[in-house]
Amino acid sequence: MSLPSITEDPRWAQMCARDRAADGRFVYSVSTTGVYCRPSCPSRRALPAHVRFHDTPGDAERAGFRACRRCHPQRMGEASPLRFAIGHSSIGLVLVAEGTDGIRSILLGDNEGALVRELQAQAPDAALAIDPGGVHDALAEVVDHIEAPHLRMTRPLDLRGTPFQRRVWQALRSIPPGVTISYGDLARRLGMPRAARAVAAACAANVLAVVVPCHRVIAGNGALSGYRWGVARKRALLAREAQA
Ligand SMILES: [Zn+2]
Repeated sequence: MSLPSITEDPRWAQMCARDRAADGRFVYSVSTTGVYCRPSCPSRRALPAHVRFHDTPGDAERAGFRACRRCHPQRMGEASPLRFAIGHSSIGLVLVAEGTDGIRSILLGDNEGALVRELQAQAPDAALAIDPGGVHDALAEVVDHIEAPHLRMTRPLDLRGTPFQRRVWQALRSIPPGVTISYGDLARRLGMPRAARAVAAACAANVLAVVVPCHRVIAGNGALSGYRWGVARKRALLAREAQA
């Protein structure tokens, strides 16, 4: 007696239809690539002989598969939690949150509870898990970078935003320590001289403090302008970079 073919499994039809409604109910893995995907993944279909279904991303990972970089199936439902830890720096507390694709948030503050609430507001669907051991290396690298801005970050950053926001954030990362730029100049550098306001809004939406150096953007008249984590911190960061 032969086993029923995987193509008779109702999940096969959902997978072939790239059914978004099935996302969160299961994932499928492909033995030839070692990758697992959500049902709606736009990638090319695999042969039935190479496909297996798993109830959760965790099951697929335990079976030795890694998450697809196109459809990010690990972010579904009970997927791997967003781990975070809080440490100290010379400009106050630093919260670093890291997911499977890299650092998601770097937040500054004076109060641990307020930092966690800020993270929750940013990632309302993520299961947050405080994990000082797991995030230790990322937190240490971020604090080192805050104290010595010329040190390069080596850990990957997981920049979540619109394509426009990501363009602005990447442009910010090209501004070296000790240099400031106006919103208008940044817009011109991006080839969008009329978009200074949109550029300013994208800077304000940055959630990777210091590492995406939105503090290096100032008003056209040279004033410090605002800063999500307080103008006093912006002033302290710029003063330190000017001395280095
Ligand atoms: Zn995929």
